[in-house]
Amino acid sequence: MFTLLQNSPDEFIQFLKKHHIRRFHFIYDFDKEKVIASHKVLQPIADFLMQDQRDFAKHEGIFCQLTKKHDVLQAGFIHKTNRGNAAGGTRFWPYATIEDFLRDGLRLSKGMTRKNALAGLWWGGGKGVVAQTDNLDIHNQGLRRDIFREYGELMSAIRGVYVTAEDVGTGPQDIADIFSTTRFSTCIPPTVGGSGNPSQPTATGVVRGMEAALRFFDGGTIKERTIAVQGMGHVGRPLIRMLLEKGAAKVIACDIKQGNIDLVVKECGSERLQPSLVAIGDNSILFTECDVLAPCATGAILNPQTIPQLKTKIVCGAANNQLEDGLRDDDTLFERGILYVPDFLVNRMGIVNCANEQYGYIPNDPYQLRHLETEWEHSIFHVTFKILQISREQGEPPAHTAIRLADVQAEHLHPIFGHRGLDIIKGLVQDRWFEE
Ligand code: NAD
Repeated sequence: MFTLLQNSPDEFIQFLKKHHIRRFHFIYDFDKEKVIASHKVLQPIADFLMQDQRDFAKHEGIFCQLTKKHDVLQAGFIHKTNRGNAAGGTRFWPYATIEDFLRDGLRLSKGMTRKNALAGLWWGGGKGVVAQTDNLDIHNQGLRRDIFREYGELMSAIRGVYVTAEDVGTGPQDIADIFSTTRFSTCIPPTVGGSGNPSQPTATGVVRGMEAALRFFDGGTIKERTIAVQGMGHVGRPLIRMLLEKGAAKVIACDIKQGNIDLVVKECGSERLQPSLVAIGDNSILFTECDVLAPCATGAILNPQTIPQLKTKIVCGAANNQLEDGLRDDDTLFERGILYVPDFLVNRMGIVNCANEQYGYIPNDPYQLRHLETEWEHSIFHVTFKILQISREQGEPPAHTAIRLADVQAEHLHPIFGHRGLDIIKGLVQDRWFEE
């Protein structure tokens, strides 16, 4: 059963070619309460999605293509468009099986629905996934250009129901290539009107989350605290600088690249900064005795192996999907009395920075800054504090609370366009977009 799902991307690509399929989709039919595939031979995948209890979550649509040049598998996942068309970045990543490819897209796009809703953005949740396969030389610029130009064509073909952006494995040049074939991309280069690198606002958002957590924890601030930061990259660097500026007693930080450590030391060298170079896979910084642990490198680092060894009071960082298993690990942290600030709450500035870039720019844009101030009801500080408070009152771990609140907000309809995304999807199905 479902053997297609255990195919590697390469095997699945051969299957698609054998059946002369270039574009295809899986749509949730809300009337029939069924997932429908565009092609009969793909219905087993639709049935698998229908039966999945964990990740599918009634995704409104998944739109896929096999590129004409280089045969690359690409997809746009649209989870929920009540608050607006789907917005989220595109990941370029290797997958062992088609099930892994699908699950990553599903999980990430559902996460974007929640992140966007909690941020008060009038955007729905979506994510793009492009499969890296062994035969692709991902450092070849010409090849990348072909891949991402065709990805832009996919965005155009699905009529804006999903607006893409940068994510793990994609960079500014890839987005410029996407933008050359579609208007439905954000995070485009500043030279053509885009918003540029969001890492500084992301780091400020993490600081706001920490401040709310510390206020909640003991009424204090960052001053005189010990903070451990894993990852000294684009977010880690400004984060460390701000923590030192705010009077942290000690910032213990690590990275796997000496060059990135050198940049931080050059920018904000201080005797209160204790940087170290670690080997890939060395997670010992997680076990540092500290007030706040800020994961700013990779995901899934909080799991049954690491959580029992943590010696922090609070976890608050930028890395996506820090909990290996969202609900299980949230439970364990809660049982251990460690305050966990959900990552999708504090690292929102990446999407906030680019989601509305078509509305133009104002210096010190109040629509951006309100996320980083304390008054606005959807600000990072305010929402973090509220979630921690509800979590304590209800005896419920904070990520559970955040998800519950996000899921309520995700149902709200866009004040102008209503549930237009669903109408776009219906039009695509009716017009058999995949035959164009
Ligand atoms: P980055 O690649 O610039 O930085 C990550 C750093 O972590 C790199 O310097 C890398 O060498 C280091 N690293 C990797 N594995 C490590 C390990 N095991 N121990 C120590 N260091 C390690 O990425 P970034 O833009 O700074 O983003 C950091 C995290 O935050 C990522 O998970 C990203 O998805 C997430 N995030 C970033 C933004 C943003 O605006 N950049 C927004 C939302 C979420």
